[in-house]
Amino acid sequence: MLEQTETLTLQQTKQAIQTEHAPSYYAASANPSPKRDILRDDIQADVCIIGAGYTGLSSALHLLEAGFNVVVLEAARVGWGASGRNGGQIVNSYSRDIDVIEKTVGKEKAVLFGEMAFEGGRIIRERVEKYNIQCDLKDGGIFAALNDKQMKELAHQKALWERHGNNQLELLSTTDIRSMVNTECYVGGLLDKSGGHIHPLNLALGEAAAVESLGGIIYEHSAAVRIQRGEPAVVFTEEGSVTADFLIVAGNAYLGGLMPELQAKSMPCGTQVVTTEPLSDEMAASLLPQDYCVEDCNYLLDYFRLSGDKRLIYGGGVVYGARDPANIEAIIRPKMLKTFPQLREVKIDYCWTGNFLMTLSRLPQVGRIGSNIYYSQGCSGHGVTYTHLAGRLMSEVLRGQAERFDAFASLPHFPFPGGHMLSVPFSALGAWYYTLRDKLGV
Ligand SMILES: Cc1cc2nc3c(=O)[nH]c(=O)nc-3n(C[C@H](O)[C@H](O)[C@H](O)COP(=O)(O)OP(=O)(O)OC[C@H]3O[C@@H](n4cnc5c(N)ncnc54)[C@H](O)[C@@H]3O)c2cc1C
Repeated sequence: MLEQTETLTLQQTKQAIQTEHAPSYYAASANPSPKRDILRDDIQADVCIIGAGYTGLSSALHLLEAGFNVVVLEAARVGWGASGRNGGQIVNSYSRDIDVIEKTVGKEKAVLFGEMAFEGGRIIRERVEKYNIQCDLKDGGIFAALNDKQMKELAHQKALWERHGNNQLELLSTTDIRSMVNTECYVGGLLDKSGGHIHPLNLALGEAAAVESLGGIIYEHSAAVRIQRGEPAVVFTEEGSVTADFLIVAGNAYLGGLMPELQAKSMPCGTQVVTTEPLSDEMAASLLPQDYCVEDCNYLLDYFRLSGDKRLIYGGGVVYGARDPANIEAIIRPKMLKTFPQLREVKIDYCWTGNFLMTLSRLPQVGRIGSNIYYSQGCSGHGVTYTHLAGRLMSEVLRGQAERFDAFASLPHFPFPGGHMLSVPFSALGAWYYTLRDKLGV
């Protein structure tokens, strides 16, 4: 194979290397976790994984369980990216649903995607139980409809998911949803009892501990800055290298230009989250009596839930191109108060932003480069469950069972219009269009 190298700009690397966790509620309430070493040696492994988010950690766990020797390189800290700062919502299926995939790949192949659509949530629950991960896991998630059109779409989604084996769904009338979410914003909803929520950083930290309990090694503050493709491949950090038979690229929205062929077909986007001060027991129970998590059905959606210590965690805005907004509270607080005006006097304790990776189709970007580099990224906003499935698919493909990995790898992906430089304005235009549609309810 031809040897080829890529280099991350030194500035990007330095930024990542100096970074601790985002100042989120999750970082403030993280379970104790050791600081990992920086890689300062030239070492070997069967598999080198770039990125210690859910994609990287889930891949590492599945591979270790299958007997591979695994090294994970993380530019910052375990769970530093989207995995440690997301809304914590276990949302089934993918950012575009199975019927959309069916139109792309045909009915027969779509059955496979249907079978996999609820697997990620099951993997999370298996991990939590097997490795005794303390991450405030709660069952039950609601998709909330803001108008009749969205309600019709939810009825369609229910029938679709039931066809693919999810029998834990319940359509909610206006009266039903108001007994579960104390707001007048919604006309109805869909409850998925196999959805749910978690403290996302504690899930990542627990998975990292599980990786290490099986002999996997994780290096922190050890960004991959250059890849020498070949058999074996060599991944260089600033102070060391890993020579490996297989390489898994799991850097998602924070990968930058390390793999240029992946960058053209995906775009980092920021979304913002706030967390209130702890609510009184009465207030928490009145907002969300069953403690389900909620996301609305808008394209640019709001999502919220209670934390383990009864704060409201509320997320919303999207910034294309992943620039950090100056005043997150000013963006999210009005959304929160529109949903729950009863929180007017409640203080916001934490605000943060995080990046997810968007593809044009909003379906995950999966595949292989050469014979031994594998990647999975671009869940486009709904990745907590899919990334856990992705880890299992990585382990399957490295063991020679490629059918399910190849199903995802066969999904077509296209560059953003206008190329990398213009993708942000084009997508902002798209966002404006969808915001207008959300507002008009069409
Ligand atoms: C604010 C927010 C809210 C969200 N809410 C939800 C939700 O409620 N439900 C849901 O399903 N999804 C949600 N998502 C999406 C979900 O969090 C992501 O899809 C998922 O966590 C992606 O996991 P990942 O491992 O692929 O990427 P990440 O978690 O971003 O991990 C990538 C890791 O790779 C590292 N890395 C990058 N480049 C290098 C390099 N060169 N060398 C070494 N390491 C590198 C990064 O430092 C990072 O730690 C949300 C995302 C955000 C940002």
